Amino acid sequence: MPTDAHQAAPAPLDAVRRGEVLADVAALRDSFEAGTTRPLEARLAQLDALARGLRAERPRLLKALEQDLGKSRTESLLTELGVVGQEIAHLRRNLRSWLRPRSFGPGMLLAPASGQIRREPLGTTLIISPWNYPVNLALAPLIGAIAGGNTALLKPSEVAPATSAALAHLVRAHLDPAWVRVVEGAVPETTLLLEQRFDLIFYTGNGAVGRIVARAAAEHLTPTVLELGGKSPVFVDEGTDLAATARRIVWGKFTNAGQTCVAPDHLMAAPATIDRLVPHLRQATTALYGRDPRRSRDYGRMVNERHFDRVLALIDDDKTVLGGTAGADRETRYLPPTIMTGVDWNDPVMGEEIFGPVLPLLAVAGPDEAIARIRAGEKPLTAYVFSPRPEIEERFAEETSSGSLALGHTLAHLGSQTMPFGGVGGSGTGAYHGRASLEAFTHAKPVVRKPLRPDTLRLVTPPYTTWKRGLLGRLFR
Ligand code: NAD
Repeated sequence: MPTDAHQAAPAPLDAVRRGEVLADVAALRDSFEAGTTRPLEARLAQLDALARGLRAERPRLLKALEQDLGKSRTESLLTELGVVGQEIAHLRRNLRSWLRPRSFGPGMLLAPASGQIRREPLGTTLIISPWNYPVNLALAPLIGAIAGGNTALLKPSEVAPATSAALAHLVRAHLDPAWVRVVEGAVPETTLLLEQRFDLIFYTGNGAVGRIVARAAAEHLTPTVLELGGKSPVFVDEGTDLAATARRIVWGKFTNAGQTCVAPDHLMAAPATIDRLVPHLRQATTALYGRDPRRSRDYGRMVNERHFDRVLALIDDDKTVLGGTAGADRETRYLPPTIMTGVDWNDPVMGEEIFGPVLPLLAVAGPDEAIARIRAGEKPLTAYVFSPRPEIEERFAEETSSGSLALGHTLAHLGSQTMPFGGVGGSGTGAYHGRASLEAFTHAKPVVRKPLRPDTLRLVTPPYTTWKRGLLGRLFR
């Protein structure tokens, strides 16, 4: 997806604003150094506070999501507040056991010795979040930061301004400022933040800004988790149940008006399968959003006019079999669910991540070509396969690389707390959700204890006499 990053050099912040931002970073660093965020009980209490805040601010958050993205209450509860609530409950339930040091045997060379892996907090973390699931993608990483015993500075997306304000209110009203602070703002604020030293930067958004984040992090050798996007493909095999397949694809594509990082970007199938699939896709769209999706309470809007114009320009009306530009309305940022056939790999719609409600169908000879097409592009965030043949599913699992592979469904895997979620290569680095969130926001530190006597290490220290050489020779044979 083309970046929202404003390419011109950002105007610097004035001295007052700069001072405020730097004071927030300093306060979080001080409280981490003071040990405020380390005790398990304190972490659980802060997670409870977040859960309470989420409940108390529900009306404000739902309203903001409606304002920014035209999200229905039910969709917001399902894909934003609900997922976050479950994530808190899951970490809360398991944190004590996940933080228990894990014993390991350090190996023959060190014997006798004992070892433990401890999960230690990283320090002060920066979370930069995007606009498309602005509550979920800000708070889900924050849960990991708190559970890991870190302080966190949250920078919500300015592209969803109402939600950014609602998140700032939630944090200020319900969380301890010694743990979490919010800096609202755009490129100037983020640029200033990126100049500071953090102990982890967790960024979700497009790859162009991901590169800016990674470059800034390198200056301080700060580790990064990069949750990026890309063109997530779907392959529909012959012989699959097309009615059920169409419902799942349509839901995955048109939820949030296609503005989902793991939305099916484009669909590949044999020409005969495409012909049979199109009526099912049409039917499924009507079943979900009615004859006029503009009137559906459950169909969202493009986040702003820039994104509306960008996606509108990708639609070729000569190729549409559903939707198209005629029904689009810039004023309300409404783009109808649109499906295009006869699309060529060189068409504009196949240039970048679509990130809107447009589904191009591309003819391929069969699974071999689909696999080759996936392998030729950037590694996607998710690949989707609908096939009645287990051996074909297995081939996609073995022969393609993607953040995740979903067989027989779309999108729903994102809400799982027992599965790490993240990209690979062009779609990102690192993963989170559930236990993976704790792992992302902590360092696994081996602590190795060896008694001073018996002094077995004398066997490996010089002078290397004949018998030591013999012993070491046998050990490292
Ligand atoms: P966005 O425009 O809100 O940008 C993300 C963040 O980067 C914002 O907080 C913004 O302030 C900041 N930013 C923008 N320009 C910057 C700059 N020049 N320097 C520093 N910071 C800057 O969101 P977006 O990038 O449009 O989000 C959509 C993209 O994110 C899509 O590609 C989508 O696939 C991807 N995405 C990935 C995931 C995931 O979990 N992997 C989730 C959602 C979205």
